[in-house]
Amino acid sequence: MAKTSSDKSKLKSLKQRHRFFLNPYEDCAFTKCPKCENKTKVRKFPLVIHIEPQQLFLLNKQCKYCPSCDLIIAKKQEIEPLMAAAFMGTNPEIIGNNYLVMGTVDKKDWKEGDKNLLSPSEMIGRIYVFKDVWDFQVIPAGWYRSK
Ligand SMILES: [Zn+2]
Repeated sequence: MAKTSSDKSKLKSLKQRHRFFLNPYEDCAFTKCPKCENKTKVRKFPLVIHIEPQQLFLLNKQCKYCPSCDLIIAKKQEIEPLMAAAFMGTNPEIIGNNYLVMGTVDKKDWKEGDKNLLSPSEMIGRIYVFKDVWDFQVIPAGWYRSK
């Protein structure tokens, strides 16, 4: 995903917490943490998603969470239909655009944001961006002929 340097410096001034992994594998639930192999927990996080060109979307989503790594794992295939459904009526042109799961907000801020009580700039002040975004490759189970 392309990111401009101006985006990065903007994000640096924001508060940070958690690490994040967007799970692209339909058949991999990550009941174990891909990093430390501890069992992951199921927890809801109010995720903040930035959709190009200029749309913030809040999604209170059940995710996998590893407390020892502070790692949130969200499934790509679960997030995308929810985003599409949310914008179907209000802003259908945005569906299919590039997006970035950029962080989380506190539960109370999510509730206010969800009722549209906060302006986008107020919302940005409450976002905690992810400290780090990780990526994991999954090698499909099976047997292979050696090269
Ligand atoms: Zn872990």
